[in-house]
Amino acid sequence: MATIKDNLQQVHARIHDACAAAQRPVQSVTLLAVSKTFDAQAVREAFDAGQRAFGENYVHEALAKIDALRDLQIEWHLIGPLQSNKTRTVAEAFDWVHSVERLKIAQRLSEQRPAQLPPLQLCLQVNISGEASKSGLAPAEVAEVAHAVAALPRVRLRGLMAIPEPAGDFAAQRAPHRALRELFDALRRDGLALDTLSMGMSADLEAAIAEGATLVRVGTAIFGTR
Ligand SMILES: *Cc1c(COP(=O)(O)O)cnc(C)c1O
Repeated sequence: MATIKDNLQQVHARIHDACAAAQRPVQSVTLLAVSKTFDAQAVREAFDAGQRAFGENYVHEALAKIDALRDLQIEWHLIGPLQSNKTRTVAEAFDWVHSVERLKIAQRLSEQRPAQLPPLQLCLQVNISGEASKSGLAPAEVAEVAHAVAALPRVRLRGLMAIPEPAGDFAAQRAPHRALRELFDALRRDGLALDTLSMGMSADLEAAIAEGATLVRVGTAIFGTR
């Protein structure tokens, strides 16, 4: 059976090949290992294989792992939905939040970020496929929220995140990733200093990298099926 270390090597090889195909330097893409539903021991195993950034969806589950792995220098990213009653805990325990979809949440995170920590790094989540059930800002709302979030003192707006609807072939996978990148480019032209396009998962990281992803969030291909 493939180990977490083997799987990480395979994912790095996929990132390498996708970067080569897109004529991008391999260092331009960061791998976020999505460890939701897997235990602290699995995270430790990935850490021992060199992985440093981990993504979690559920605040309560993440806190237990963060606590159990205090001895490791891990960068923790929240990528799942964030309710306002959890912002304080998140502001205290995480390094990044990718799933900001309301200005109010970013304001609370900024107010509640402890002074002794560096600013909390944020991405705005965008509902790029326009599905009624999915979370995220509508593309038309993003610019206004982005400018307001960028002005907050204790957070730093880094970019955009999306979870596109699954698509079968490569061209269909690329379309929503391209739409997110175009939105990102427009914000940068508009003066926002953004550097992070958080898109691409186990099934579509090649399409995301072809369209400019700077951070791919990979769970299944590293830890196995949930
Ligand atoms: C679970 C999850 C991932 C990882 O998905 P895989 O298909 O397992 O790679 C990435 N991003 C978000 C927001 C997720 O919830």
